[in-house]
Amino acid sequence: MKQNVPETYGSMVFDDKVMRARLSVEVYNSLRKTIDENVKLDVSVAEAVATEMRDWAVEKGATHYTHWFQPLTGVTAEKHDSFISPSPDGGIIMEFSGKELIKGEPDASSFPSGGLRATFEARGYTAWDPTSYAFIKDHTLCIPTAFCTYTGDALDKKTPLLRSMQALNRQAKRILKLFGKEVKYVRTSVGPEQEYFLIDKEMFEKRPDLVYTGRTLFGAMPPKGQELDDHYFGVIKPRVTAYMEDLNEELWKLGILAKTEHNEVAPAQHEMAPIYSTTNVATDNNQLTMEIMQKVARKHGMVCLLHEKPFAGVNGSGKHNNWSMATDTGVNLLSPGDTPYENAQFLLFLCAVIQAVDDYQDLLRLSVATAGNDHRLGANEAPPAIISVFLGDELSAILEAIKTDTPYQGKEKEVMKLGVHSIPRFSKDTTDRNRTSPFAFTGNKFEFRSLGSSNSIACCNIMLNAAVAESLKQYADRLEGSKNFESDMHDLIQETIKKHERILFNGNGYTDEWVKEATEVRGLSNLKTTADAMPHLLDEKNKKMLMEHKVFNESELDSRCEIMLENYCKTINIEGLTMVDMVRKSYLPAIEGYTYSLAKNLSVVKSVSKNVKCAYEQTTMEKLSGLEDEIMEKVDALEASLEKLKDFDSIIKTSEAIRDDVLPKMEDLRSSVDEAEKVSSEKCWPVPSYGQLLFSVY
Ligand code: ADP
Ligand code: MG
Repeated sequence: MKQNVPETYGSMVFDDKVMRARLSVEVYNSLRKTIDENVKLDVSVAEAVATEMRDWAVEKGATHYTHWFQPLTGVTAEKHDSFISPSPDGGIIMEFSGKELIKGEPDASSFPSGGLRATFEARGYTAWDPTSYAFIKDHTLCIPTAFCTYTGDALDKKTPLLRSMQALNRQAKRILKLFGKEVKYVRTSVGPEQEYFLIDKEMFEKRPDLVYTGRTLFGAMPPKGQELDDHYFGVIKPRVTAYMEDLNEELWKLGILAKTEHNEVAPAQHEMAPIYSTTNVATDNNQLTMEIMQKVARKHGMVCLLHEKPFAGVNGSGKHNNWSMATDTGVNLLSPGDTPYENAQFLLFLCAVIQAVDDYQDLLRLSVATAGNDHRLGANEAPPAIISVFLGDELSAILEAIKTDTPYQGKEKEVMKLGVHSIPRFSKDTTDRNRTSPFAFTGNKFEFRSLGSSNSIACCNIMLNAAVAESLKQYADRLEGSKNFESDMHDLIQETIKKHERILFNGNGYTDEWVKEATEVRGLSNLKTTADAMPHLLDEKNKKMLMEHKVFNESELDSRCEIMLENYCKTINIEGLTMVDMVRKSYLPAIEGYTYSLAKNLSVVKSVSKNVKCAYEQTTMEKLSGLEDEIMEKVDALEASLEKLKDFDSIIKTSEAIRDDVLPKMEDLRSSVDEAEKVSSEKCWPVPSYGQLLFSVY
């Protein structure tokens, strides 16, 4: 690699190193306290930080600044202002005040608010989040911010995420106190593994479906897909290598710890994993990563597809959310300890997660629900829509031993008594074998694997943090003031295992037997689509928990349910309209043209000779002509269904009609067009084929 990595790394970030070097000791310490302990920031401190931030940014060539935020659209937003201000001598000076750093006032009216704004002012404001470092992108100083209405309702994903981290911090500290530990804070960390596809830009531009929707809505299977398993971890092609090098460099500049890269299962599919960081930072960084992945691809004449299912028939893309909790002193609370006492603490936190996942399966499921991700979950390539927890044999045996007060078949062969017996450290090898589980313990962290590749990781971490905070709260309420802590804790853990073991499953999550057992025997929920899942956000138990921990207020919840369903409906509506457009403007005319040329050949050849059969022309023409009529009927039907969507008076009804009527019609239309593609000449086909798209990058 050309550049000096340690020098490049973080060069565009106003990070701790820069702050320490540039800010006075008082200002630095005061800002650090805000970052670490959530202490309110002093205005004079903001003023001093703003000045240094501006000087640093200008030195790096920045001309503008922006409050960078994450509205509920799922992508980031920015509105640039330049630093320039007229000076009395007729020239300009570069200005940036503490006030401008702390607060911005973008016009909020064009962002989705799900009714939040209707009752209030159209304006929203952005507020600096000092816990995520400012950075420079495209000559612009980007300041990570939260986005709220004037009455304080969150219009973004960051605010509830920060609140959920606070909730977990509060409750985890109570638990640690019971073990005699006073810590400054407990934070959750996340390492998101990001999957994506790279395809040639020229091919991409010839496919209106990819351009408008990010996925192919048509396309017959090529002769070769992923069946040879020759792509996973395969040698990376030179063009992709060049891309990855460039991507790493751009990410490193922004202080994003891009670490692992490899080919994925499907042709043209790849993965990038960064080193984990605090959830809030990891979320910001993942948003940036997705943006930069797309930008760098364009530079290399390619397009990076982040859609969950760009191609039918080969694997789609997901994101793995590796999650853990740690103290400010760096102790990972999901890491089994060295002493029996630490093991007990580990088991208590472990139980808190198990209980959280069981009690709030629906919240976890809906936190990853989008139109795109619906294609993956339950499609035997990604975890099923049923949420369950994988612990691995070793840990399962330990929990079983605790549950039944029977000897654990480990070294000691004694009845597990918490606080007395050690449990072994689990090596990653013994825990990370099951790739079909949506929520797997992997030695010292949990890996939530149901996320779609384009999802913001904020959503699932909000739910996860809040749900675990709730279990911890219940435990703390029960154990605080206990006269016999160890035995009470033992009972609590035992009860928790008994009560929540239905969520534990080490088997193959892709089988039909599991679906049957999970739903019929264990009573786990199986929310197959976004339309099924999303309304559960407003279930009484979910609302109560999220509001009690101050993660959302009631109107914020209503607005999110509305926006997420709206997003689902709009996405599929666009897909449907794109199909109609492509069929009418490209596919039908192409099929008609080819049918005509076959018919013409047939009649010419037959008029020349009576001895020819022309079986190919005859059968193909008949087949295509039949398909043409079929396609016409199906496109009319789809169009009518899309039209009908306008008549529904609630978003829930619209989403149900999409699920039950529109999506099946889209499937049906596609199958006829794909059938026609299979028997048509490549020359007459109006768009690049799957083979051309998937094998276009060398
Ligand atoms: P695999 O592909 O086997 O799941 P990877 O090494 O590709 O594993 O990704 C694992 C991810 O988990 C990385 O982003 C890594 O930084 C992250 N990770 C490791 N330890 C922790 C932890 N304690 N908390 C959160 N994330 C972690
Ligand atoms: Mg993984």
